[in-house]
Amino acid sequence: MKDRQFGRVRFICGENGGKYPFNHSLYLQGDKERVVIDPACSLEKLTRLKDEGVDSVWLSHWHEDHIRYMNLFENYPVWVSERDFPPLADLETFLDWYGIEDQRARGYWRKEMLETFDYRPRSTACFFRDDETLDLGGLSVQILPTPGHTPGHLSFFFPEEELLFLGDYDLTPFGSWYGDVFSSIADTISSIHRLKAVPARRWMASHDQGVYESNPGPLWDRYEKIIYEREDKLLAFLDRPKTQGEICAAWLIYGRPREPKEVYEFNERVLIGKHLDDLRHRGKVFCEDGRWRKAVSEI
Ligand SMILES: [Zn+2]
Repeated sequence: MKDRQFGRVRFICGENGGKYPFNHSLYLQGDKERVVIDPACSLEKLTRLKDEGVDSVWLSHWHEDHIRYMNLFENYPVWVSERDFPPLADLETFLDWYGIEDQRARGYWRKEMLETFDYRPRSTACFFRDDETLDLGGLSVQILPTPGHTPGHLSFFFPEEELLFLGDYDLTPFGSWYGDVFSSIADTISSIHRLKAVPARRWMASHDQGVYESNPGPLWDRYEKIIYEREDKLLAFLDRPKTQGEICAAWLIYGRPREPKEVYEFNERVLIGKHLDDLRHRGKVFCEDGRWRKAVSEI
């Protein structure tokens, strides 16, 4: 995979093919403003970019694999949605937003954030206005709020280049992530619909393949369908009342146990938790005596 230049927008391919804990970054070359979006692709590439000229850093959202090398730009203005700012301002809030309650897991992630991701709290940031269009000088950018993955997740549309940056609505075969405390399945679906309707000719995502030069329509369909398939599997598994522990032990999301166990057991648990909450909210399941059951209408 290579870096690509599309007019005044450069796609900068991340290490490890842009897979976690890296991402693909963008470099915007406006006459008035030069911007790095999500500085987590590669320390070497970002150092070169800094020499080339960067005026500000933009973030699509607060996750660690999008901020990894942010401190390379320590005194630069950082732009983000106000809704996603709290975890960037405080490490304990960061862990809280992931829903990490277990003290040992908190200790592990606290260390990981400080050592691997060089987490440093930011006292200030600049906040985008939803749907505003910014003029960087010969390059305009529309700020698209796309909540669900995180409450303040942003995608960016470049009308001159007919290019849409999707951020973490990344079209991967795994499907979307909505396992954080403030993630939302319903908002994820709405954001997928919004992104699908943008009149782009090129699409870029934060991970994996990264650049799509033909309409990824079928990939969007698959990406959305995975959400409904997870839900269907969960409802089918509730053929009799089950505890949340029994449900998680079935690995309905990941299909099989994955390593490292601590990470994937947590991921499975929070994603299942989100689906149970969503189904309960919609009156399709309820919890009684510690066991989840289907509502009569679903049997
Ligand atoms: Zn993310």
